[in-house]
Amino acid sequence: MALLYDDPIFLKHDTGPHPECAARLGEVSARLAETGLVERCSRPQWDLVEREALGRVHNLAYVDSVQRFAAQGGGYIESDTAVSSESHYVARSAAGAVVDATRRVVAGEDTQALCLVRPPGHHAVQASAMGFCLFNNVAVAASTATRELELDRVLIVDWDVHHGNGTQATFWEDEQVGFLSVHRSPFYPGTGDADETGAGKGLGTTHNVPLAFGTSRAQYVDQFTKALEQMAEKIRPLLVLVSAGFDTHVLDPVGSLGLEDEDYVTLTDLVLDVAEQHANGRVVSVLEGGYNVEILPGSVAAHLTAMLERQSSQ
Ligand SMILES: [Zn+2]
Repeated sequence: MALLYDDPIFLKHDTGPHPECAARLGEVSARLAETGLVERCSRPQWDLVEREALGRVHNLAYVDSVQRFAAQGGGYIESDTAVSSESHYVARSAAGAVVDATRRVVAGEDTQALCLVRPPGHHAVQASAMGFCLFNNVAVAASTATRELELDRVLIVDWDVHHGNGTQATFWEDEQVGFLSVHRSPFYPGTGDADETGAGKGLGTTHNVPLAFGTSRAQYVDQFTKALEQMAEKIRPLLVLVSAGFDTHVLDPVGSLGLEDEDYVTLTDLVLDVAEQHANGRVVSVLEGGYNVEILPGSVAAHLTAMLERQSSQ
């Protein structure tokens, strides 16, 4: 079994004509049901994220401003990020799901969780929405793990096609949270150069692998493998979190680094190896991007299948 967070509440973040649309998840849910993957998972109930947990990453005045903006009917809260009247509630539920998954996995209820949430999170910074993201779900989960659950070391692996600038900024000076991002560059949001490695006590706990458009699948996997091994040795994580974006897919209309569904099996297996070696297999994966509504279900299914196969082989 794995914990699966897949719920119609996430369809209520209505972005209108926008690549980050509710149909993304509707199609994924349908595929997981059709293929029987849902039955191999348990489906916990969870609560909205608490202000205390959100406040470890975001300025609470910003959180309140998102609530007011949504309550007034929404619109574009920044140039790329659409908000509807229910978006604050949905975003609190998304962060809540990821926090709940982290608490359950650390408590030993299961070793694996997959959180199919939206809005995504990895671009959101302390006091601002950015790049389709309102609250930084994975960052809230990592800070819950270190500060509430008292894990000494956590590793976030971000394989979304975009650099996870918000996550990087959150943990820039944090020695407990390692951040590995493999992403297309030059590309939005413009950060994530190889020389961005953290500062202060966090110096060396950030590792960026910028890859040019046109990098081959084999080169991508090779670079990912080397960087992950390096970070796993350095951080020796007690929990691995994944910012699982599928906009690296060759048919993604927004990003694309040429990957195919079988590559997500490879990336998942590599992350699971690290989790097994250091973290008793504990992995919480969180959906970020992936904007081809017809392709995304297959990519997510490949990722979840690889997770479940690993458990059943043990
Ligand atoms: Zn992305």
